[in-house]
Amino acid sequence: MAKYKVIYRNENCSWSEDCPVRVSVVQVSRDTTSGACYLQTRLRNISNNRCSSVEFVVNLANNAGDAEKIEFKLLDADLPAGATMAPRARKMTLSEVCAASATITRVDDARHFGAQLQIPKPEAPNLSEELLAERKTLLAENGVNAKLCTGVHVTHQRWWMCGCGAANVQRSVCWNCQAPLELLRNADSADYLAEHAMQRSFDAAVANLDSSSQGDVAAAIENLRPLADKGFRDSAEKIEAGKKRLSEMQRGRKRALRITVAILVASTIGFSAFEIQRIEAQKETTYETATACLEAGNYNDAQRLFESLGDYRDSADKANEASPANLLYQRALRELESGDNTKALEHFDSLGDYKDSVDKANEARETIYQKAASAFDSGKYSIAAGMFETVGDYADAPQRAEEARGLAYTE
Ligand SMILES: [Zn+2]
Repeated sequence: MAKYKVIYRNENCSWSEDCPVRVSVVQVSRDTTSGACYLQTRLRNISNNRCSSVEFVVNLANNAGDAEKIEFKLLDADLPAGATMAPRARKMTLSEVCAASATITRVDDARHFGAQLQIPKPEAPNLSEELLAERKTLLAENGVNAKLCTGVHVTHQRWWMCGCGAANVQRSVCWNCQAPLELLRNADSADYLAEHAMQRSFDAAVANLDSSSQGDVAAAIENLRPLADKGFRDSAEKIEAGKKRLSEMQRGRKRALRITVAILVASTIGFSAFEIQRIEAQKETTYETATACLEAGNYNDAQRLFESLGDYRDSADKANEASPANLLYQRALRELESGDNTKALEHFDSLGDYKDSVDKANEARETIYQKAASAFDSGKYSIAAGMFETVGDYADAPQRAEEARGLAYTE
């Protein structure tokens, strides 16, 4: 059996502009036993019409300056639009080849085509990484082979080069990667891609707003925020609708918890002396429910349940923890920590002598007083006056407030 060795191959032959058929490959193989060389070619119909017959010429040359011309007349080529074919290999006279060119001389009745040109490699799109990814998505969702179509398309008068590098004549869809020309205009536009990305993320978020999962709804709201900032469609209204839905869902969950609580409270009250074991188990369930209420922010039920448990485990402490006074105290502590001294002061004051609220209130007062003093020193008299007034009769605050008021006009 004969063995062949490829001694020459050209996959980027020049092409006659506007010609519906392109010679895509010219290859010379040598029979290693006999030394005979064979010319192999491959044609591609890059137009939108079937070609009945094709004629072309291949000119070959070797290093010694010998030349050979081989003509192909494929009278019944019958090549469908976009399809490829490999004409029968032809035995050559030359035994060495260093250059080859192929020229189509006839396609059906047409004999004259444009100038020979080299089809350039498409340029990489000048897009951000984000928009490149969006381009891929856009192409893929339209059935285009996005892995092939990675470059920028170029349109000429009667043909266009696709982003995959393929020339297309009188075609609206690339024969190689299936990209429609219309789509490529969008895929190569940064503005269109940015809009497409926003629309996609908008659609996904809007679909998630109807989800039965609170997490999905919350995520949808978060995803709509950047769109709302850009004024994209009715993102802002959709956020409001999402928030409403979320709070309804949360209320629904709390209501379910309240029903469980009501049943538990009722059964805890009506216990029988013979069922101590069952009651112990029930107490534990009540304790767990109360803890869940506390964690869910359902403080009234939590307090009531912990109180109903009496001295069971640390129920008494937990009942205090869930009490409105403690909640306000905890809130005021957080405010003090985060530097919201005015609110902290207001809340500690309203708690009277609950725990160390008096000390904490004074701590907040002192901080506000110091801030007022430094505002005063830097000439911000109106702000200083307001802050001195906030701390009431603390130290010499009333006098300093008056002094600051008097200087406020100089600002
Ligand atoms: Zn293409």
